Amino acid sequence: MPSEAALHQVRDQFPGLHENELIYLDNAATTQKPDVVLKAMDDFYKTSNANVHRGAHRLSDLATRAFEGARDKVQAFINAPAREEVLFTRGTTESMNLLAQSLGQHLLQPGDEILIDTWAHHACIVPWQQIAAKTGAKLVPIPLLNDGELDQSAYQSLLSEKTKVVSLTHISNALGKRAPIERMIPKAKAQGAYVVIDGAQAVAHEAVDVQALGCDFYAFSGHKCYGPTGIGVLWGKRALLEQMPPYQYGGEMIDTVSFEGTQFNTLPYKFEAGTPAIAEAIGLGRALEFIQELGIDRIAAHEAALMAKAKNELAKIGKLTLLAAKGSNHGALSFNVTGEHHQDIGILLDQEGIAVRCGHHCCQPLMQSLGLKGSCRVSFALYNTEEEVDAFVSALADIVEFLD
Ligand code: PLP
Repeated sequence: MPSEAALHQVRDQFPGLHENELIYLDNAATTQKPDVVLKAMDDFYKTSNANVHRGAHRLSDLATRAFEGARDKVQAFINAPAREEVLFTRGTTESMNLLAQSLGQHLLQPGDEILIDTWAHHACIVPWQQIAAKTGAKLVPIPLLNDGELDQSAYQSLLSEKTKVVSLTHISNALGKRAPIERMIPKAKAQGAYVVIDGAQAVAHEAVDVQALGCDFYAFSGHKCYGPTGIGVLWGKRALLEQMPPYQYGGEMIDTVSFEGTQFNTLPYKFEAGTPAIAEAIGLGRALEFIQELGIDRIAAHEAALMAKAKNELAKIGKLTLLAAKGSNHGALSFNVTGEHHQDIGILLDQEGIAVRCGHHCCQPLMQSLGLKGSCRVSFALYNTEEEVDAFVSALADIVEFLD
C-alpha cells in the first residue's frame, strides 16, 4: 500500500485506533471500523430508516435500495455470478449453520463423509459434527504435516465416493496459513463432493473470486473486513441454493402463506427470514468499497511486509517458538514462549498497551494436533505500521527477559 503519508491518512480514518492508546494486533478477531462505514450506518438511521421490501412508502424504498445495493457490492467483491446467490447472514458462524442444516439435512445419508481440515474453526466443525450425528454421516479430519500445512497426500487418499462435503479453511485464523484451495477444490469436485470455503480470514487480505475458485459455497464475516458485527455472507451456487430447504421460517422468506401450507420465496429471500440487519448490510457494503478503493493487492503487500518484519525480528528472541512459520503466513502469526503460559504473555503485552489474542483461537482440534493448549497470536490489518511491529517485538523481548 502506502507511502508513510498515505498510511497515516488511512489510520486517521479509524477512530477506534485513536480513542484507545493501544497497538491493536488482534485484527483476526475483529478489525477496527473506518469512518466511512460508521457514517454509512449512521446516515441510514438518520435519513432512510424503514423496513425493507415491504412498505409502499418512499422511505422503505430508500432503505430497500440501500440494502439491495449492499448485496450488489458483495456480489462484485467476490465476483459472484448472480446477486441472488448472495445470502446475508449474521456471520461465518451462521453461514456454516445454515449450510450444515439445510444442505446437510437434504444431502447426507448414513455412511457419507464430510472432510474437514484440521485448521478448522469451531464455527465449521461443530455445525457439521452435529448434522453428522443426526444423519449418520461421519466427520473426517484432513491431518496436518509437521510444519502445520495440510497433508495433501492424506487429503487425496481420504477423498472417496463417500465424500459428500469438503469444508476448507481459506486462511487459518490460528496459524495464518493459507490452504492451496485452488488445487484442493478440483480434487473434491472430481469426486462429486460439494466444497465449502470458510473465507472469514481471507477476504480482508486477498482478492476472492468465487467463480475462479470453483467452490460451491463461500462464507465470511463483515466484522473481520472493516465492516460491522452482526452481518456476514454465504455465497452459494444458485442451482444448489434452489434445491436446499430454508434454514429458518417466518416473514420475508415466504411467497404465500395459508394455514394449510406455505410457498417459499425465491432466492435470496428464501434464506433470509425476518427483518434483516439492514444498517449492518449497508455498513458491510461500504467496508468492501473501502477495501476496493485502497486496493486489496496494495493492502496485501503492506501486510506481507509487516509479517516479514515480525517473523524476522521474532526469530531473534530466544525461548520463542513461532508456529507454522515456514513459508508464508497471511494476516496472523502464532507463537509461544517456552515455559510460559500464553495467557500470561497476553496479559503482560496488554500492560504494555499491545493487544494480541491468546488461547485456543476456537480451534481446539488444531491445538490438540499441535500438542498445545493454546498460543499467542498477532494479526495485522491495513492500518498497522512497522513502528507498531517494532514496539511489539521490543515489548515481547523485554517480557521474555523479565520472565527468565
Ligand atoms: N472461521 C474463521 C477462520 C474465523 O477466524 C472465525 C472467527 O474468528 C469464524 C469462522 C467465525 O466467525 P464469526 O464469529 O464472525 O461468525
